[in-house]
Amino acid sequence: RRQELRKLKDLPSVTRDGHRVELAANIGKLEDLEKALDNGAEGIGLFRTEFLYMDRSSMPGEDEQFGIYKHALQRMEGKPVVIRTLDIGGDKELPYMSLPKESNPFLGQRAIRLCLARDDLFRTQLRALLRASAFGNLKIMFPMIAVLEEWRQAKAILLEEKARLIGQGVEVSEELELGMMVEVPAAALLADQFAREVDFFSIGTNDLIQYTMAADRMNEAVSGLYQPCHPAILRLIGMVAEAAGRHGKWVGMCGEMAGDAKAIPLLVGLGLHELSMSAASILAAREAVRGLNREELVPFAKQALSMGSQAEVEAHLQTLHRL
Ligand code: PEP
Ligand code: MG
Repeated sequence: RRQELRKLKDLPSVTRDGHRVELAANIGKLEDLEKALDNGAEGIGLFRTEFLYMDRSSMPGEDEQFGIYKHALQRMEGKPVVIRTLDIGGDKELPYMSLPKESNPFLGQRAIRLCLARDDLFRTQLRALLRASAFGNLKIMFPMIAVLEEWRQAKAILLEEKARLIGQGVEVSEELELGMMVEVPAAALLADQFAREVDFFSIGTNDLIQYTMAADRMNEAVSGLYQPCHPAILRLIGMVAEAAGRHGKWVGMCGEMAGDAKAIPLLVGLGLHELSMSAASILAAREAVRGLNREELVPFAKQALSMGSQAEVEAHLQTLHRL
């Protein structure tokens, strides 16, 4: 089975009717790059930069971060690399930064909320990213955006740092794309508004499901409510994809759901352009994509949106091989 999948390593991720779906890898540190490439990743769809900040006794400085981002971009040789800005708070803590105790950390000051409140930290990371952008195909994305004001404020800070660097004679890529994660239901519901302003979306289903179902993603006792193929989740994904399509923007997914070969027909049918997953899932996902017919999946996915439960959607998926 493994050998069979290996044969797909250098084959394109296209459906039978010629629709391309980019299959990318999620990484947390530079060591993960080799595994991504070895498994045929066409890009990096999520670089979780918080791992550069964790398990150490002090904050990584601008030059250190620059070196890491530059290395990742160079190693990927022009393939897209989506780097997410710091997503700390929630379950992730930093030993050298004392964050106030919160009774609901996942609903608290995490990710972009913390970065906007502590913008010294944010600016350091953005400068490192902007400097690295000259060395490859970088796309920057902000996590946990809930409202337009956060997006605009984060973007304004980035543009300020960009102008400052250019003023200092530093080269910054002109092609740099700026996008956001959609992992808060409010952002998915307002995707048509965000779509005017972003270059791309990446749907973070790990958090989007948690917040939509009001079910802690770490709590076994409520894991039954954690239903990626629930029509409520599929509708949110569909809204984001539709809004992106209408504004000519691309939309990807970087939550665990993207690597679930069973869910891929729905994701392709809903119109996602990119799926980012752990490296180990890429070849099986490629096999799945290459067996699909996108034209048939559009109405198929649409039908799923009008169902009442995940169980119904799963039964619907069972009928797929008959298409
Ligand atoms: C997500 O929420 O789906 C996601 C990809 O981000 P993380 O798992 O790092 O919260
Ligand atoms: Mg998340």
